[in-house]
Amino acid sequence: MDTVSGTVAEAGGLPVPGVDDSAAPIGFADALAALSASNPEAGARLAAVLDAMEMVPAADFRTVVLPADRAERLAVELGRPDLQMRARLIRADVLLREGDTAESGRMAQQVNAWADEHGNAYLLARSHHLLSVFFHHVGDVADALAHGVQCVAKIGDEVPARIRARHLSTLAIALHQNDSSDEARRRFQEALDLATAAGDLELALQVLNNMAYTAYQTDNGEDAETLIDEMRAFETRYGVPLRAHYLDTIARIEMMRGRYAAAEETLRPVLDGSAAHLLTEGNALAECLRTVAEAKRLRGDLTGAQATLDRAAQVCEERGLASYRARVREEQAQLFAVSGRYREAYEEHRRFHAETQALQSAQREARARALQAFYEAEEARRESVRFREMAQRDALTGLHNRRFVDERLATLIERAAEYGTPLSAALIDLDHFKRINDTLSHATGDVVLQQVAGLIAEAATGAGVAARLGGEEFVLILPDTGADEAARRCEQLRQAISGHDWWPVTGGIPVATSIGVTTVTGGRSTPSALLAHADRNLYAAKRAGRNRVVADAV
Ligand code: GH3
Ligand code: MG
Ligand code: MG
Repeated sequence: MDTVSGTVAEAGGLPVPGVDDSAAPIGFADALAALSASNPEAGARLAAVLDAMEMVPAADFRTVVLPADRAERLAVELGRPDLQMRARLIRADVLLREGDTAESGRMAQQVNAWADEHGNAYLLARSHHLLSVFFHHVGDVADALAHGVQCVAKIGDEVPARIRARHLSTLAIALHQNDSSDEARRRFQEALDLATAAGDLELALQVLNNMAYTAYQTDNGEDAETLIDEMRAFETRYGVPLRAHYLDTIARIEMMRGRYAAAEETLRPVLDGSAAHLLTEGNALAECLRTVAEAKRLRGDLTGAQATLDRAAQVCEERGLASYRARVREEQAQLFAVSGRYREAYEEHRRFHAETQALQSAQREARARALQAFYEAEEARRESVRFREMAQRDALTGLHNRRFVDERLATLIERAAEYGTPLSAALIDLDHFKRINDTLSHATGDVVLQQVAGLIAEAATGAGVAARLGGEEFVLILPDTGADEAARRCEQLRQAISGHDWWPVTGGIPVATSIGVTTVTGGRSTPSALLAHADRNLYAAKRAGRNRVVADAV
């Protein structure tokens, strides 16, 4: 691989036209077709297929296009948003490779927001990984690094070594691009060790190639030399043939060290067609031809160089590889120049320059569009989170409102049933509140409600929930809290309210509350039954003279 973006392409994304997908390694489609939503094992099986799809080597990404779509629909049928998000992330990865950068970034960000909201560390790490690659593609190296750091930080011990290795490799690339070569080197090495230990030779080679290429880019000839030796040793030891892009990296480094004939020899199997299977990516042949033309020129074989370059130009034209075509022109200009054909060299260089400029401005525009789409979606998401949050809050006190309680209580009851833990709920109603409104003012009443709300919020420690149901009635939900503990905390709250310094607000008028608290164990209840029970206890507290707590009769 031999461009900067090329090195990352391996780790997760670049358009790779012309890839033959007949060599699908695993029948994902078959595995999914055999899965029906009514099968009780369907969730576990779908998760296993997704595990395998996430491991597909970069060059085989086309094998997951349709299955990822099917997997997402199946996850929806199964009511498994976590698996749906995993499938969506695989689709986003494919889109990035196919060149739909904007849509890919938008989807990765959606999954990232979902994972954040639901505390799903695996999806958080995976989506940060794709976002790092996305930002790399749009040329924002700082954000690529920020997400690269997160994709490694969020990864847990249970995550397969091969996934960890990929994330480390992506972080290494981002570090390299941010001029932290030593840090990059360390992450690359970790990724290499992990991939090798996990037996993922494909990935190990890709990491070695990236290491070699970054050494080449930073002009570190000795490291580059050592690394290409390692790549060769890898090939011999494990019998994995080096793909054309890797051979091109080796050839470039050999040229850098002045070994032109060796560079040509390295790429010979790619050029003479004896190793067509090495050409797993559509642009590899053009790239290799250009490298060989350069090697021939440098060792003085100008005729050979011209013939090779003609072939490179033809391949570019046939396959519509505009950026490679421009680079072939650059080499052509050099070749004209050493042949003493300065006029033609000048003309060719001008064409190279014009084409490169046009490509760069098109690329800049595409990047800007992708970034804009990303930030607009991010803004829309923030707004919708803010609106949803607002819709669940009470405007006067800032506590949660009844809608929120209805939703949350149902979840908490389910969870209590699942874990067999107790759950308590208390209804809190101000005593003779009407008097405060009538004697002082409605505005003073509001201030009282706000201060009471603050005291109830303080009582809702840990997983507790404080809410205002309406008027001067509040609720305190205490998950994992048995009857005795709940009664104790309600009594504490009652005292906190009546003992509060109300003088500045009400003058001498006291503020007190009655509280009815109830407890369920093992979740055998519904939100409305639970609140009705608490309400009966509240009514008993009022009847018994107010300013007191009444719990369930034992
Ligand atoms: P009890 O001890 O029986 O609960 O007596 P109470 O006066 O607290 O109960 P009642 O239900 O008779 O009165 C509730 C009052 O709360 C009536 C209403 O004007 C007042 N109220 C309801 N919502 C608000 C509000 O948002 N702000 C203010 N200031 N008052 C409110
Ligand atoms: Mg009242
Ligand atoms: Mg009331």
